[in-house]
Amino acid sequence: MRSASVELHDVSKSYGNVQALHSVSLRIERGEVVAVLGPNGAGKSTSIAIMLGLRRPTTGQALLFGEPPGSRRARSRIGVMLQESGVPPTLKVRELIDLFRTYYPRPLSTEELLLQTGLDDKANTLLGTLSGGQKQRVYFALAICGDPEVLFLDEPTNGLDVESRRVFWDRIREFATRGATIVLTTHNLQEADALAHRIVVIDKGRIVADDTPSGIKARTAGKHISFTTGHPLPLGFFDDLPLSRLAVNESAVTFVSSEPEVALKRVFRTDCTVSDLEITAIGLEEAVLSLTGRNGSSGVEASRDRS
Ligand code: ADP
Repeated sequence: MRSASVELHDVSKSYGNVQALHSVSLRIERGEVVAVLGPNGAGKSTSIAIMLGLRRPTTGQALLFGEPPGSRRARSRIGVMLQESGVPPTLKVRELIDLFRTYYPRPLSTEELLLQTGLDDKANTLLGTLSGGQKQRVYFALAICGDPEVLFLDEPTNGLDVESRRVFWDRIREFATRGATIVLTTHNLQEADALAHRIVVIDKGRIVADDTPSGIKARTAGKHISFTTGHPLPLGFFDDLPLSRLAVNESAVTFVSSEPEVALKRVFRTDCTVSDLEITAIGLEEAVLSLTGRNGSSGVEASRDRS
């Protein structure tokens, strides 16, 4: 069988008393674009560091192209953009790119890299004098300069504003068209959805979901609804509806639903006045909670309703 790009076999990792990963197994095939999604502290960076051979698993094994990740051969076939780059700020952009190109057997040309990352007018600028967004582009150029078969991006758009983030997504997509495998971490569901074919949700060091973006969204789609009614609604008013976390406190009603319109229509058909209506999307933290079911049965119900 052809080896996968990246494999984790039953990987656990402890830092002293903190267990960052618990028996994580994952296989990423060639050409896949995979987002590892989860809240801060979930274990995303640790997973990437183990895939790269930068950290050793406490137990279990990581493989890159079927080989130990630290091997020189494996390293020459990957590109990495980590949150901490360790790149000298006193070099010019072109110098940095030229330097990094020498590490790889078949690098992309400097001119192509400058153009592809929108840095052609910054080629002779010192890294240390660039803005955060421009530096991020340099790190991306350095990550792709070896024309890697697997590109690792750890929170690539962290700290960027919305516009710069979108431009960055386009650059990542453009690179993906070359057929490379891409593994990125993010705590942003929208980012995972915009870029990945597959989303692996990690929470507290465990994989809690592994699905296509539409599969994940269907499971996590939900809105928080809250409103106040002129008088209390009859007992069991919402009983047959696909709601979760329903709380009725006198005339104050809150619930989570992927189809709030159905419940709201029913309320509006009564002679009850409705005030203080608020509808907000549920955040990733809650989405992850609903995937793990740790918020009680109701969170899981929301996903079952859709399946
Ligand atoms: P994420 O990238 O999802 O934010 P991390 O992999 O950085 O998560 O961290 C997972 C857990 O491991 C967290 O509880 C974090 O505090 C802990 N951790 C990460 N690196 C270290 C370290 N070098 N020493 C001790 N604890 C660490």
